[in-house]
Parts: sequence; structure tokens; C-alpha cells
Amino acid sequence: MPGPAPIPTDANPNPTPMDTLQAYQVLGLDPGASDAQLKAAWRRLVAAWHPDRNAAQDAGSRMQGINKAYQHLRQLRQDGDEGADDIADEPASSAPPPPAAATAQAGATGPTHVRKVRLTLEDAVRGCTRTLRGHFTQTCDSCAGQGQRVLAQACSTCRGSGAVRKAALFGWLWNDEACLDCGGDGRQRATCDACDGSGERAVAYRRQVRFPSGVRDGQVLSLPSSRHGKLNIGLELHLEIEPHPLFTLDDDGVLRCDMPVNGYAWMAGRWVEVPTPDGLQQMRLNREALVYRLRGQGFPTVPRGPRGDYLVRVTPVFPAQDDPAQEALLDQLIARANQSAEGGTGPLGQWAQRMDAWTAGQQAA
Ligand SMILES: [Zn+2]
Ligand SMILES: [Zn+2]
Repeated sequence: MPGPAPIPTDANPNPTPMDTLQAYQVLGLDPGASDAQLKAAWRRLVAAWHPDRNAAQDAGSRMQGINKAYQHLRQLRQDGDEGADDIADEPASSAPPPPAAATAQAGATGPTHVRKVRLTLEDAVRGCTRTLRGHFTQTCDSCAGQGQRVLAQACSTCRGSGAVRKAALFGWLWNDEACLDCGGDGRQRATCDACDGSGERAVAYRRQVRFPSGVRDGQVLSLPSSRHGKLNIGLELHLEIEPHPLFTLDDDGVLRCDMPVNGYAWMAGRWVEVPTPDGLQQMRLNREALVYRLRGQGFPTVPRGPRGDYLVRVTPVFPAQDDPAQEALLDQLIARANQSAEGGTGPLGQWAQRMDAWTAGQQAA
């Protein structure tokens, strides 16, 4: 069996192979038992079968069997964490997220770290690559979460007996109690250096992720496990698209912008600068129109798909009417428009002729 033993034991670095099912039977567990259940069962059995407290003939051999079964299963479970190859820089899958149960099962190759990722609207439109960094807390693999290592020498507290004597009833009687320092197995412990005795280690990960164009707010992307230190960490990314100061992406998937424009420029059909996800762009105003469709410059219709249309709605804005210079200029414009309409065939000219004819008829009557 490759890999270090879960509880490094100088006395027994190469435990003899043990039948896994038998190991579970020894501990009274189903193979589906959790790590915590495994540990609890071992502690309970050690307390029950320690030769110092159990007078049965086979207590010693039972203890050995219990410890052997426990070590075997710890090692087996730890080895299970080391399997898959590094899968780096996979494009994020845009498929719907797997159900919770499926995500939990990914723990077979490594834990899944769930986290938020915020993207700008521009990043979402074009797709982007982000380097994600974070920490993932994992059971210490040097001590299998025990926070301590088992050494070859006898426990200094109980001198290897696994029990300490406590005086009771004014010192007339002595009670043997399980030694707390060694858990009753009589072997010396040392604090695990790898985790400083906490039983946990923070595994740092750094991963480049490519987000396809057209990802939406609230979308969940699942990435396969990749190797970070001794761990395979899968990522489940919950996307947030930051609100944009200029654009809105509506529920219908259409990108929109509402912008005020100089009313005179609008009347005059001038060019204005409009923001687009690709930067500023010149757009010609048209006094017949308030909504402008910029084809293919909006949000992708589907992830990685072609871009939809971008709609710009303009609101012509005119200055207040209390500026005499502006009023004089407007008067000039009005006079000029009247002049050119006079006798013409346009709507104003025709209207003037119909009014003249009607007025003449009134006077003749
Ligand atoms: Zn002890
Ligand atoms: Zn440790």
C-alpha cells in the first residue's frame, strides 16, 4: 500500500495488509461510516478493551486488532484523496450545475470549494480569464486530523501501561483510570509539526479559470478537481455580474443604455459618442428616432454564442428657456423655417394655403 501511514508509527511503519471489510467488522462499522464515526468507534473500543481495564484473557489481542483495523482504515481513506491528475485551466463548464448530491460525491476525488466570483459586464460579454486564489481547510494528512503523532517509546505519563492510578477514599484505595495523554494505548504522543496540533491545514490554491463569453449573473460553474499541494480541489463558482454604471442587461437578454443627448444635436442629426461594451463609438442622431439598434454589439444570446443587439434610447435635452441669446437664435430659426415654407408644397405651405382659402370664404359670406 503506497503512501505514509495515517498515524506515523515509528514502531510499525509497514503494517501488514488487512482485509478492509474485516477491519470495519472489528470496529463494528458499515463501510459507509464517516471519518468521525470511525474515530469515535475506535476511541470507544480502546476504552472498553484496554488490558488495564478489561480483565478478559484476550483483551490484549483485541486491543491490537482494534488499533490495526483503525490504522488500516485511516490509511485507506487517506489514500483515496490522492488519485486524479492535475487538470489545469479547464474552461469552465456552462452546463447547469450538478445537483447537490452529485457535488458531494465529487468528494471521492477531492473536496469542492464553493465560492463567489464577481465579473464586470464587459468581462461577461467578451469572456475573460481570472486567477482565483483562496484557502481551503483540510484535515491534516500528516496526523490524519489527530493533531499528534504516535511515537515508538512508551507514554511518559503512564510509562506505557495506558492507565494512571488515582487515589480514592483518603488514599485507602487506588483507582486505575485511562491515561489521557496517550488515549490508553500506552504510547508516547508528540504534537504534529505539520499542523501545530490543530489537526487541520489550510491548503492554498491558485487557479486560472477561463470564463466563456455570455455568462450570466447567478450562474453556477463547476470545475473539475485540480491538484493543489496534496489535495484535489474542485471549484464551484457562483457568478455575480457587477451592476454597470451605463448599461443594463435586462431579463430578456437585451443590453440597453439610456442616455440624454443635446436636443439641438439630435434635431440637427449630429454624431454623438455612445458607450458600448467594446468602448466608445460614434453614432449619428436622427430627429425621427429615439431608440437606436446597434446590431451585434450587445450581450451574447447564448454562452459562447453570437452577440445580440444593443439598444440605445436617447432623451433629447434642451436648455431652459430663460436665456435671451438662445431665444433670439430660436426666433431666427423659426423665421427661416417660415420663409422656406411659404408658398412651398410641404405640410406647412399646404396648410397655409388651406387656411387662406377658408378665410377668404368666410369673408365672402
Ligand atoms: Zn499514557
Ligand atoms: Zn497534523
